[in-house]
Amino acid sequence: MNSLYNYAFFDEGSKREIRRAILKAVALPGYQVPFASREMPIARGWGTGGLQLTLSLVGRSDVLKVIDQGSDDSVNAVNIRKFVSGTTGVAVTEDAREATIIQSRHRIPESPLREGQVLVLQVPLPEPLRLIEPSEYKTKRLHAERDYSGAYLVLFEEIQRYGRVATGADHPVEVHGRYVMAPSPIPRFDNPKLDGNPALILLGAGREKKIYAVPPYTKVRSLDFEDQPFRVEDFGSAACGLCGASGVYLDELVDPSTGSKTWRCNDTSECASRRRASQEAADAS
Ligand SMILES: [Zn+2]
Repeated sequence: MNSLYNYAFFDEGSKREIRRAILKAVALPGYQVPFASREMPIARGWGTGGLQLTLSLVGRSDVLKVIDQGSDDSVNAVNIRKFVSGTTGVAVTEDAREATIIQSRHRIPESPLREGQVLVLQVPLPEPLRLIEPSEYKTKRLHAERDYSGAYLVLFEEIQRYGRVATGADHPVEVHGRYVMAPSPIPRFDNPKLDGNPALILLGAGREKKIYAVPPYTKVRSLDFEDQPFRVEDFGSAACGLCGASGVYLDELVDPSTGSKTWRCNDTSECASRRRASQEAADAS
């Protein structure tokens, strides 16, 4: 642990200010709470919102996992993990079941979360109505009046153009029957995991200076239409080429020399633990 820094990098006043914003966000599920986003030793757009949430919450007995697009080994995940453990000395893990705080970019882990865990999502664009309304003053009003026709209009235009809802990620959701929220760019596949999740889900946007939350067991509904119900990505009968899993979120890999396609689990630590388990079972038999 680097003792040149204060515990968890921030001064105590900063941590308290962020925690107050978190409490307000928990009290108003899906509502974007402004906070004084600080300068961080990484650039905005690289997870500073999530990092500030993690640093304000992390205690000495916490166990931290950091993932980026399902991978524990990407540069962004490695550096954030190093930074938090370096300024706190907390234990780190790749196993989502062991972690008490999971900071993630663009994914909710495949293994189900449990009570007492905190999932911190890094958010680039927290405002689900920004595409149709550039003014912050006006979007705040639309939220206050619960006027979400613009969010539906975007989905309707996609159906007009592509014959289906074509949001690749960040498909808007209604939280606790009130606020419409951007779930951060998680794939549609992960949207159903937001609904009634036993873990506390916190979302932080560093550049846009917003914090919002989905408290445990909160009703979360993906926006859709009666005749165009919400659907997650369908991988058909595809299975991971390494561990054989299906029904999980898969990445498609194309061999540039042969053009042949294979599938891999997007959640690399889950894939590795499945392979370990099947290896152990093979060794035992
Ligand atoms: Zn796999």
